[in-house]
Amino acid sequence: MGKKIRALGLFSGGLDSMLASAVLKAQGLEVAGLTFVTPFFGAERARQSATHLELPHYVVDIYDQYLPLIFTPPHGFGRRHNPCIDCHILMLREAGALLAAEGFDFLFTGEVLGQRPMSQHRGALNLVARESGLAELILRPLSARLLKPTRPEILGWVDRGGLLDLSGRSRKRQMALAAAYGINRYPTPAGGCLLTDPGYAARLKELLRHQEQVCRADLELLKWGRHFRLPGGAKAVVGRNHRENEALLSLKTPGDLILKVQDYPGPLVLVPASARPEDLEKAAALTTAYSDAPEGAPVTVIVQNQGQPRLCQLTTGSKDHFKGWLI
Ligand code: SF4
Repeated sequence: MGKKIRALGLFSGGLDSMLASAVLKAQGLEVAGLTFVTPFFGAERARQSATHLELPHYVVDIYDQYLPLIFTPPHGFGRRHNPCIDCHILMLREAGALLAAEGFDFLFTGEVLGQRPMSQHRGALNLVARESGLAELILRPLSARLLKPTRPEILGWVDRGGLLDLSGRSRKRQMALAAAYGINRYPTPAGGCLLTDPGYAARLKELLRHQEQVCRADLELLKWGRHFRLPGGAKAVVGRNHRENEALLSLKTPGDLILKVQDYPGPLVLVPASARPEDLEKAAALTTAYSDAPEGAPVTVIVQNQGQPRLCQLTTGSKDHFKGWLI
């Protein structure tokens, strides 16, 4: 018996990547999934989908390689802050390194021709494959019969006749095929990548206008709370509920202050200790405005850093006053 052909797939855990894996598995190939992690997308739903398919699953963090793409991606951004073309090129290059290291024969993706305007038209698929340096070794099983044959097909590792000819945005055929392959649990298409989320993308763009360099904690912080840019340039983040308050505490660095009103329920507010005095005053007023203290009531704001808390006496302000600074 010959060696079993081994295929490694970019695996988001969504329906398309699950289906692409199932199509190749059905041809008797050894199939594994590969999921990349950054602050913008994680691996949780991919883990669940890989378990559902009983697929060996690799998870690789590519934060360092990904970071430059949020500044100046060579192929530009999509509708929000999503550098989809360069993201795909990077992922395929990284997958190529694993392909060689782990002895896989070829790569595959769940891409569908014409499904996404920026990254899945024919020109973009060709460009990404070419620039990844792995063109001949990238199979797209869901649209393969509409694309030029790749090496796995030419060498007979894969039966091209058993591959699919899906195109366009409709998911009807995918859903019918999923049922035929026994895939009965898969995530909804939305929610995979924060760079396509309007709120997150707006906060990220605003951050990049104010900071030349960002770190992972900055990018994590953008996921939580209401963000305000104060007139002096400091950022204040207001927790919206208990979970967000906990997240702010976990992301607080020694250079940050936490503000909170005394004697009334209210949010935690995170602000850099380096903020100018006028911004710290504004942050304290913001803390009162989002608390349950009645407007106009005298209130104490606790300002906590590392050591002894400081107390500020204020009158509770109105949220309306801060609307213009909301990012
Ligand atoms: S949506 Fe996000 S994860 Fe997907 S290709 Fe675009 S940038 Fe990459």
